[in-house]
Amino acid sequence: AGPAPAPAKRLKVAVVGGGLVGALEAVFLARRGHLVDLYEYRDDVRRTPHLNRGRTINLTLSHRGRAALRAAGLEAAVMARGLPVRGRLVHARDGTRARSLYHPDGQQCIYSVNRKNLNELLLTAAEELPNVRLHFNHKLVSADLDSGRLTFQTPLCPEGVSHSAALVVGADGAHSRVRAAMLRRPGFDFRQSNIEHAYLELRIPPNPDGSSALEPVDFLHVWPRGSFMLMALPNGDASWTVTLFAPDERLRRLCAEPVLAVRLFQTHLDDALHLIGAPALERDFAAGRPSLLLGVKCNPYHVEGKAIIIGDAAHAMVPFYGQGMNAGFEDCLLLDRLMNHYGDDLQSALAEFSLVRNPDAEAICDLAMYNYTEMRELVAKKSYHFRKKLDGMLYNFLPNLWVPLYPSVAFTSQGYRWCLENKQWQDKILQLFAITSISTIIIILGLTVLWIWNFISNEDLSDL
Ligand code: FAD
Repeated sequence: AGPAPAPAKRLKVAVVGGGLVGALEAVFLARRGHLVDLYEYRDDVRRTPHLNRGRTINLTLSHRGRAALRAAGLEAAVMARGLPVRGRLVHARDGTRARSLYHPDGQQCIYSVNRKNLNELLLTAAEELPNVRLHFNHKLVSADLDSGRLTFQTPLCPEGVSHSAALVVGADGAHSRVRAAMLRRPGFDFRQSNIEHAYLELRIPPNPDGSSALEPVDFLHVWPRGSFMLMALPNGDASWTVTLFAPDERLRRLCAEPVLAVRLFQTHLDDALHLIGAPALERDFAAGRPSLLLGVKCNPYHVEGKAIIIGDAAHAMVPFYGQGMNAGFEDCLLLDRLMNHYGDDLQSALAEFSLVRNPDAEAICDLAMYNYTEMRELVAKKSYHFRKKLDGMLYNFLPNLWVPLYPSVAFTSQGYRWCLENKQWQDKILQLFAITSISTIIIILGLTVLWIWNFISNEDLSDL
């Protein structure tokens, strides 16, 4: 990545949240020459052995996330640790397995990355810039976005310590405090959707010789079972992170009585149980606490030229498209481009961000919700695989005209809204094609029957 242009005006910026998006945004802002203070609620992840509870161990990185990392000069470092994932492998109830590639040529893939490693890498990249200061154990408790005054609770100052900034960037996740401060403003629209399902993470250990117990290693493995679903993503040490998505109440019951979890696996997920091991499964359930899933839509994302929310703070989504982090990274890239375009005029840059980003963010939230059904139910249906095959054939034949939904989301930078509308257009074309084909067949059959009838009638007449 080339050097970012120095800003005409050097601003004091507060980034709230040192997760994936906040850390990357701090790098972008510092590369522009701004003075960046990053405030993170938790301790420094680089000094803690494990991730906090409820944080997924690995995530999939795709084109959009990579484009943002590239612009920040960090793509190569991240990719060096990424594991390629070329498609989905569905484990059916009867033990059969069906593969589908994410991209028909099998070449383009997404990558499984470790959340902790990635967060550490991004925080270090931010810290290495001379104009970034990192403040851990700083929990934002209140924000006055007009004056830029922020109050944090810290272990040393539980009653609260105040800092101020000319620009406040809220990257403080799905339960954002910065967004909560926007809620009180007139015209701010906010919608939260909670889904019935929660998730719990389990682990498939490597074989004793260090090899992977689940093959092939370059696929996302899915066990769709209607009301629940299991998913496995590979880790660098040949283990797999396995996520069970199930109704929250049911998951809690299984955690309370882990022997029921073993029974559930014996009945519906026997091959996975074999890989995890019954004792480990019982242990994981006994120690586990299900995490809830939610979606957030809001608008606008900014307050004048003074504050903006990005990442999950602006558009948390259910995780079934593997796009939450990618979309958050894309936010950072878009904001950087708008700051280039508008220069000193921060108010216009932030307003444009809300305007451009909102339709795309809402579209990916909707697509993620759609995939929630697709992954649990549709992937087990023959019609789903037929449509995938048809999409793949058309994509091979007409690569510029027929880009199926998944590749358009995961392997292009087309706006998410465009991807959604493109899928709706493709659905209509296929429906029209199906209706036309069925009508043609009916007409041909009808004409054939009439012709035969006419023929028979003719013979009857000639008999007279
Ligand atoms: P967060 O990661 O939530 O970070 C917010 C940070 O702000 C945290 O460090 C938090 O401690 C801090 N914070 C919170 N409140 C305060 C406060 N008051 N003061 C100071 N700091 C605060 N995305 C993908 O792209 N690919 C995937 O494969 C994928 N898989 C997922 C699987 C699951 C099960 C889940 C739940 C999510 C998945 N996601 C995935 C989504 C991804 O995890 C999120 O989109 C991403 O973590 C958002 O990053 P963020 O920095 O905006 O928010």
